Amino acid sequence: MIPYGRQEVTQADIDAVEAVLRSDFLTQGPAVVRFEQALAAYCGAAHVVAVANATAALHLACLALDLGPGDWLWTSPNTFLASANCALYCGARVDFVDIDPHTYDMDPVALAAKLERARREGRLPKIVVPVHFAGQSCDMAAIGALAKRYGFRVIEDASHAIGGHYRDVPVGSCAFSDITVFSFHPVKIVTTGEGGAALTNDTALARRLERLRSHGMTREAALMDAEPDGAWYYQQIELGYNYRITDIQAALGLSQLARLDDYVQRRQRLVARYDALLADLPVIVPARAAGVRSAWHLYPIQVDARRCPRSRRQVFDALRAAGIGVNVHYIPVHTQPCYRRLGFARGDFPRAEAYYAHAISLPMFATLTDAAQDEVVAALRGALA
Ligand SMILES: *Cc1c(COP(=O)(O)O)cnc(C)c1O
Repeated sequence: MIPYGRQEVTQADIDAVEAVLRSDFLTQGPAVVRFEQALAAYCGAAHVVAVANATAALHLACLALDLGPGDWLWTSPNTFLASANCALYCGARVDFVDIDPHTYDMDPVALAAKLERARREGRLPKIVVPVHFAGQSCDMAAIGALAKRYGFRVIEDASHAIGGHYRDVPVGSCAFSDITVFSFHPVKIVTTGEGGAALTNDTALARRLERLRSHGMTREAALMDAEPDGAWYYQQIELGYNYRITDIQAALGLSQLARLDDYVQRRQRLVARYDALLADLPVIVPARAAGVRSAWHLYPIQVDARRCPRSRRQVFDALRAAGIGVNVHYIPVHTQPCYRRLGFARGDFPRAEAYYAHAISLPMFATLTDAAQDEVVAALRGALA
């Protein structure tokens, strides 16, 4: 089976992890700090807080921006559950903004229209979470301008997009957002096993994220409501969590980061090959947004119903039967039972639903060989006929 995504672990990665295993610190040690510093330097962000996974990073980002009961968070319906669940963790309410039918990212025109309605109804969101679907950045300048105009905060869910660029600036620079979140799950672009990070240019937000990562504890006397009892003393000044990443994971991430640019280049080359090899087939290949260099976490195609006699289900099943580990990204979040119980229904976000009805993610990972990719294309050609 050729999977839709997979990690690469090299001898250098194994050596880096082994060195941590033989060291004094398995967690809360120097490897986490080194990983955070390397990520900050790569992305051009002032602060990085590495955590247990991207879901934890999204939760902490919402808490650090004071999301709570009575507040709204808006995100894209075309995303993984975690982009919306983070609001529910905080007791806040969720709403969605439909996607652009070409890039499959949150549509800034739909966002502007929905904001204007929400302003009139007095229910503006506190936070908007644009998701850089498949690795392609959303139109962050447009979203950033709306954030200024309507007074909401922005968390970029860049789980797919490390190594990508928006207007020649790396995703993660937070040029148009308060916080950017990455995932280091093994199907993503670089991995720590499980892992994630929150990036920000705001020093106060970074300190808050660090504190919330570790129970809401501080050892800084200035933040306490009394003089410390002694050198051992700490205070818990708010409710936090244990969302820490280990040094074992951070060492793997730091070693992987050295190959990030190579990985993205290889993905770009595979995308160019897919585009060319699929040109005569009844499928819609992913569109490029202007001014964006995608990191190409995914290569999502749509089966073109007007030109193809087979349904998406038939094409998907035929590919799986041929040993191609295709997948579908994403089932629109608002159609999940957990969200329908909150009042959402099928039909609420028709563009995300129409895209989902035809979508298939083809195998896409840095170590996919040209020969394996040719096999995928041959199987797809057969499945579509
Ligand atoms: C993978 C993913 C997440 C969650 O990442 P974890 O590290 O597994 O918690 C969140 N959002 C998107 C868009 C993702 O693809």
